[in-house]
Amino acid sequence: QYLERFYRVVSKRIGEMLVCEVSDVSSVRKYEQSKREFVDNASHELKTPISVLRGIVETLLEEEEDQRKRHFLEKALRRVEQMQNLVEDLLTLTKLESGRERLNLSEFKLRELVEEVYDSLEQEFVKKEVSFENLVSEDFKMFADRQKLFLLLRNLMDNAVKYNKRGGKVWVRAKKEGNKQILEVEDTGIGIPPEHVPFIFERFYRVDKGRSREMGGTGLGLSIVKHIVFLHGGEIMVHSEPGEGSRFSIVIPMYN
Ligand code: ADP
Repeated sequence: QYLERFYRVVSKRIGEMLVCEVSDVSSVRKYEQSKREFVDNASHELKTPISVLRGIVETLLEEEEDQRKRHFLEKALRRVEQMQNLVEDLLTLTKLESGRERLNLSEFKLRELVEEVYDSLEQEFVKKEVSFENLVSEDFKMFADRQKLFLLLRNLMDNAVKYNKRGGKVWVRAKKEGNKQILEVEDTGIGIPPEHVPFIFERFYRVDKGRSREMGGTGLGLSIVKHIVFLHGGEIMVHSEPGEGSRFSIVIPMYN
């Protein structure tokens, strides 16, 4: 009888603790969700004024002949572009973090996708005189969400050129091991000091804030990459040598 009472008291207590814990978890979740909604709403509100502002600066720049004024307008345009990139990245990230994003899986030629990403970044490669080699074979078929993989590769290749040296190199490779599809983006850039590597996938984490901003970085690229990989049930590995370069390896399982 004594044991039975003891058992009842203990299980009631555990029950109370569990209810407490569950309501704690759900209030944390609600808080996270309202934070996400706030960022999402604020980014949407900023989208239109920023693109109007961009239009105005571009028109003024087209008509301006005075070198001094052109210099300031060019500076303003770069800042506006930076704001636009930030808003775009914030919208992408909040969508990926919401847990409501679904994968649209299909089979496609990876080499063609890499070419498309390169075309969208060609100006950056040319400006920095960085050469690019697409080492993905013509018949390599990738099974994944093509649109999200575009975003993933664009962020990794953008970093590979942004943090490269003038005249450096970037390669993209792919291979299959069992049911794993492995993509690699490698560069001959400045590298990442080992103590920073564990944090680079966190939002707004930058090894060198000044350099990232100067390059037009938002600090969100690798967070976006991480979410896309996890959504595919995959993993990321980073191998980097300061002063030598970096290699980002993405493993995506094949489900079919
Ligand atoms: P950012 O917009 O600043 O590039 P990311 O999230 O894409 O933000 O990257 C986070 C940080 O990781 C960068 O600021 C940079 O310091 C470092 N990083 C990312 N990719 C590379 C790379 N390929 N080579 C050297 N450093 C890199």
